[in-house]
Amino acid sequence: MKRVINFAAGPAGIPVEVLEQARDEMLDWNGTGCSVMEVSHRGKEYDALHMETMDLFRELAGLPKDYNVLFTTGGASTQFLMLPMNYLGEGKEADYIVTGNWAQGAVKEAKRYGTITHPADTHMGNGVFVAIPKQAELTFNPRAEYVHYTSNNTVEGTEWNYIPDVHGKPLVCDMSSDIFSRPLDFTKFSMIYAGAQKNLGPSGVTVTVIRDDFLAKAHDDLPTMLSYKVFKEKFSMHNTPPCFSIYILNLVLRWLKKNGGLEAMGKVNDRKQQLLYSAIDSSSGYYRGIAQVDSRSWMNIDFKLPTPELDAKFVSDAKAAGIVQTKGYRTMGGIRLSCYNAVSVKDVETTVQFMQDFKTRNPA
Ligand SMILES: *Cc1c(COP(=O)(O)O)cnc(C)c1O
Repeated sequence: MKRVINFAAGPAGIPVEVLEQARDEMLDWNGTGCSVMEVSHRGKEYDALHMETMDLFRELAGLPKDYNVLFTTGGASTQFLMLPMNYLGEGKEADYIVTGNWAQGAVKEAKRYGTITHPADTHMGNGVFVAIPKQAELTFNPRAEYVHYTSNNTVEGTEWNYIPDVHGKPLVCDMSSDIFSRPLDFTKFSMIYAGAQKNLGPSGVTVTVIRDDFLAKAHDDLPTMLSYKVFKEKFSMHNTPPCFSIYILNLVLRWLKKNGGLEAMGKVNDRKQQLLYSAIDSSSGYYRGIAQVDSRSWMNIDFKLPTPELDAKFVSDAKAAGIVQTKGYRTMGGIRLSCYNAVSVKDVETTVQFMQDFKTRNPA
């Protein structure tokens, strides 16, 4: 068996120890004689796992009890519509900071439910974004019910390195692609959400966290499965939850805790990004980073080679060397190395060596 170095943008790699444990428990989980997929979600074994996963998430994030951890489905994309559906409506407004393709996706859905204003929009045309706005560049709408932003722009390879000050408005963040990659003051947020398949585990579950005071303002009269209040009241078990995805999420969270939590993860991720960006910056212009330097993402490292032909050759030679899923997003071109938590420093060191060798073998 051979594991590749996997730079997938999502679904992404999962720590090997987690996969091994899931394999070992596949036929007999927790002494039940079944896999976790084959037991009742109303039974005591599953219930304990479910509640422990919520508590583990809160513990790792350093969140007090007034934050509710919800397990929603339909991906982060469903949060794009659930959020405005729960808070907007006729005559209501919300602020959305636009810094990338996914932020635009959130705006598209929010517009169905209210008037959407933009404290900043860094779109440069043709789907190109390279920068995160500075605090001084943000202009807020005093009538906004909340302010929404995207902490890491998965496609464009840009990331916020500060939490914006939104002058007391409820702050909501799509953290799908950088959640738990480093320490962060999560108590600054009224709501966060993240599809699990980048930094937290497999697709199928989305972690949505809402503070009680913000939850209290959500509408009551909504379709059951789209109501945040129902998710809270029923502990995300109004219907059958994605039990297997939550189980893997549980194992990933335990793995994070065992390895030192967000503090330790932040150090590993910092090392990884330093190695890659210095390989780019010391390549005499052979590798060119796409994002503005002060807006660079630690998670998605986007760059280009001297020609599109060399970009393509890089992808295929990397694959032959066991380094896979390096192709940039279609609107961006070039290369994207997604360095989520399951990518190790050693994986990155091997890749930096590959980049240096590739440059020598393929002069511009
Ligand atoms: C991947 C991604 C999404 C979409 O997630 P789904 O779970 O596929 O709906 C949304 N926002 C960001 C920042 C992402 O990286």
